[in-house]
Amino acid sequence: MYCVARVTGVRKYLAVCGIGAAFVALLFLRPFSGFAAAGTLALGVFMFLRQYRQPRPEGELRKGVTALLAAVPEDDPYRLLFEQSADGILLLAGGRFIDCNAAAVRLLGYADKDELTGLEPDSLSPVYQPDGRSSREKAEAMIRIALAGGSNRFEWQHVRANGHLVWVEVLLTRIVLGGRPVIHTVWRDIDARKRTEEEAARAHDYLQSILDNSPVGIVFLNGERRIERFNPAFQRLSGYSANALQGLSTESLYAHPEEYERVGREAYPELRRGGDFVTSVTLKRADGSQFTAALFGRAINPQALSEGFIWVIQDISDYERLEADQRLLARVFESSQAIMITDANEIIERVNPAFTRITGYSPEQAIGRTPRILKSGRHGAAFYAGIFQTLRQKGHWEGEVWNRRANGEVFPVWETISRVEDDSGQVTEHYISLFRDISEQKRLEAELEYQATFDRLTGAYNRQGTESYLERELERSRRHDHAMSVAMLDVDHFKEVNDRHGHDVGDRVLKGVIRRTLEAVRETDLVGRWGGEEFLLVLPETEAEAAERLAERVRGTVGEESYEGVGRISVSLGVAELATGETVEALVKRADEALYRAKQGGRDRVEMDPSLS
Ligand code: GH3
Ligand code: MG
Ligand code: MG
Repeated sequence: MYCVARVTGVRKYLAVCGIGAAFVALLFLRPFSGFAAAGTLALGVFMFLRQYRQPRPEGELRKGVTALLAAVPEDDPYRLLFEQSADGILLLAGGRFIDCNAAAVRLLGYADKDELTGLEPDSLSPVYQPDGRSSREKAEAMIRIALAGGSNRFEWQHVRANGHLVWVEVLLTRIVLGGRPVIHTVWRDIDARKRTEEEAARAHDYLQSILDNSPVGIVFLNGERRIERFNPAFQRLSGYSANALQGLSTESLYAHPEEYERVGREAYPELRRGGDFVTSVTLKRADGSQFTAALFGRAINPQALSEGFIWVIQDISDYERLEADQRLLARVFESSQAIMITDANEIIERVNPAFTRITGYSPEQAIGRTPRILKSGRHGAAFYAGIFQTLRQKGHWEGEVWNRRANGEVFPVWETISRVEDDSGQVTEHYISLFRDISEQKRLEAELEYQATFDRLTGAYNRQGTESYLERELERSRRHDHAMSVAMLDVDHFKEVNDRHGHDVGDRVLKGVIRRTLEAVRETDLVGRWGGEEFLLVLPETEAEAAERLAERVRGTVGEESYEGVGRISVSLGVAELATGETVEALVKRADEALYRAKQGGRDRVEMDPSLS
């Protein structure tokens, strides 16, 4: 079958086989009724074969040329040129090879030239050439061109005897042998070159696809820093048209000319050493907008920078913004306020150094636990439930909370809690809690309040505190229609005490006077320091007479004490009962006037201001 295929061509062989098979099948399947049909078919096959065997004009041509060649002597020098050429040489006459040399046989890997002669060129070829054309049609077309134009040179793929493909360059030349047109065919083996070319083309396609699909800009610059080639990512990045980029000086891509100069200055030494130059610069797009770019540069040939450079360019504006945000956040985290971030389930995710300083819990101790580690026990469940209710409704809560430090100490904080939702605003992602220790602030507030109300030396109400108290008592008396009195007390000759014993001793005496006075008055009475060594006694629900008796008792109690380092002292008191519609000032003034009279009257005594009502 192999030989027949070679001699007659595959198609004809298949045609004969097909008809034969049909005939045999008919004979066997319909042995009795099919004789007439079999006879007709046999006749058809006979006719076909007869027609095929008919000598045709091409056959005549081939025979003529073959005879002519056979007549050439074995040692004819031109025959030797043919036989010994390193290029394969074949002669085509009437569409078939009629002769070929040893190189042609070798090229296709056949045993001898008998296997080649008589074949049509396309039967030594794959069905299609690499350009997609059918080998048969293309071969006929090539021969036609050679016949018409005298010669035709082209590249062709043949099939070797082992089935492998081989590239040849074919030169067809129309020659005339003995008056007959013959195609002189030269095959030059270009397989190795073609394979290298194909390899290179594949590598090129591969590199091209890397360039085309790279997400970062890649630019080839010539020695003058002008753009020679660039990839689509760079074109997108720059916003320029391909035409505008071609040959463009990179200077126009820089937002700041001094940066263009800096890169030139700093990059060249590094590139000359064969290293990478990495920097970040501000570049300018075609529309003038700017972006921060990371540049990675390399010289194509470090020995000859004039051969140009490769720059890889990446827009890092987003990273920069992100980094700036992170720097800012880190700063916020350094705040003196404690910061505690939890997830939606209240698991602590992050705390800052101030948190650790204030609560005593290190990040390792706090992270992974819940803010309940700070619970002081001073608030009930309703308090915390209220916080979460507000957070759900308003996303924000602010207020005073008592917390507990790691060492057990309870302390007040002013806390702000915010709920952080996802983009939809529906799902809670985090709670951010900021708080500061307000122990000191509360202490100061309490002290200020104390100072505003109490006298530092004696611990009694000071003038302001006494006045407020008096106002309240006056209101109460009016409301309940109770009587009320006041008594103004002044130490007699106190200047002398100071002068003789010193101010400190004087102070001690004042404290003693208060102590003794408090012993004499009732629990409901108030003794306030009105100023200097003057004290105001506020006596609720007390009429003038009772007030006078009380004042006498005070005078007696204070006067019976022997004060350390001083001995006995005396005090004078002026008493007044509240009149209807009277103000605090008027009442105190009348008591003052009574005191004045007591002093006038010789001191160490009690004087009543005449009742007004
Ligand atoms: P009189 O009998 O008229 O009241 O004579 P006096 O010396 O007590 O006179 P006056 O009441 O006018 O004098 C008040 C004196 O009290 C003046 C001042 O030196 C003294 N003094 C006022 N406040 C203080 C104080 O806080 N500590 C001491 N040690 N002395 C005070
Ligand atoms: Mg006085
Ligand atoms: Mg006095």
